[in-house]
Amino acid sequence: MTWLDEFDGRLAELDAAHLTRKRRVVVPEAGARMTVDGRSMLAFCSNDYLGLAGHPALKSAVHEAVETYGVGAGSSPMVSGYSAANALLESELAAFVQLPRALYFYAGFATNASIVPALVGAGDAIFSDALNHACLIDGSRLSKAAIHRFDHADLAALDAQLAAEPARRKLILSDAVFSMDGDVADIPALLALAERHDALLLLDDAHGFGLLGPQGRGAVAAVGLTGAQASPRVLYMATLGKALGVAGAFVAGPERLVEWLLQKTRSYTYATAAPALLAEALRAALRVVGSAEGDERRAHLERLIARLRDGLSPGADAAVDAAGWRLMESATAIQPLVIGDNASSLRVMAGLQDAGLWVPAIRPPTVPAGTARLRIALSAAHQADEVDTLVRALRTLARA
Ligand SMILES: *Cc1c(COP(=O)(O)O)cnc(C)c1O
Repeated sequence: MTWLDEFDGRLAELDAAHLTRKRRVVVPEAGARMTVDGRSMLAFCSNDYLGLAGHPALKSAVHEAVETYGVGAGSSPMVSGYSAANALLESELAAFVQLPRALYFYAGFATNASIVPALVGAGDAIFSDALNHACLIDGSRLSKAAIHRFDHADLAALDAQLAAEPARRKLILSDAVFSMDGDVADIPALLALAERHDALLLLDDAHGFGLLGPQGRGAVAAVGLTGAQASPRVLYMATLGKALGVAGAFVAGPERLVEWLLQKTRSYTYATAAPALLAEALRAALRVVGSAEGDERRAHLERLIARLRDGLSPGADAAVDAAGWRLMESATAIQPLVIGDNASSLRVMAGLQDAGLWVPAIRPPTVPAGTARLRIALSAAHQADEVDTLVRALRTLARA
């Protein structure tokens, strides 16, 4: 028997632990509805927080870009894949987040997995929040630096770890908005620690860019650390497939750090560039995000968040409380309802599906054991009565 035969048993173990992941074929409909495996569902699972993925301005930007640039980029940006569209996008991104320079990448996961090893290596030290996204964790491992994990948001522990670490080059990693909890990092406090210990701070704002701060300029702008107040020791990373509605990512920050990343990031040098049609879609998305229409979409989303929290927060419904379901403390579009064990979270997800609602159950290892949850993602594409429908369905399931 070869060890390859063990995969059948390993897959069966996943299934027995309710950890098998399934994909569903989806077709977008109007608003936040989508056809899922042939059935029309109201979806609360998309990170398209501003409802831009199907926006007419983005679509027409793509049509025009295809006529000008064709479809593929052809090669690495270092060789011939750096289009005028990509160059313009970079300067517009930098201006939008009010930081000196930006570098545009094809995909968020690959960005973090490869900028971390470009910044630090063997003999250096990384300090990473326990709830950071998988791509920061993978980038840390790839770097061969020593990794110190601190409990989520425990800045006293981080301070102690930084003080005890003799390495000269120290890198602090944190999500700006935590992807499975929805809470926001204390960026000024993280920066104060970076300054005290001569560390560099890399923030992943995948879930804040387009949403937080004035005009949605992101989590760092929200705390006033951009423009003249920009710090020489902050690197800002954000993805472009969530609130921006397209795909990709960028890193922005001090000129010398961004230039270093341009020189040394392997997923930038050795990957085919993002097609210009995506850069043009993103330029159109940025214009919407920064406009009065963007303000309206963000204000609508804020009202939906408040509405959901009114309906499900502890104390709002006795049955939800009695079931032990707990809406986490989150002010962002990510509103996790902790159910507890894996099987129960799948049962609630299935109950919602029967009611035509699609909310994903998130289980370990994505979240800590015992905290399986429904990750409710709200979007400006939702209507107020659709949020009410979800709240009612959950209250009914809690009584069952
Ligand atoms: C989604 C996400 C990523 C990965 O970005 P992609 O562009 O989807 O690859 C990185 N970091 C965080 C926090 C994310 O939520």
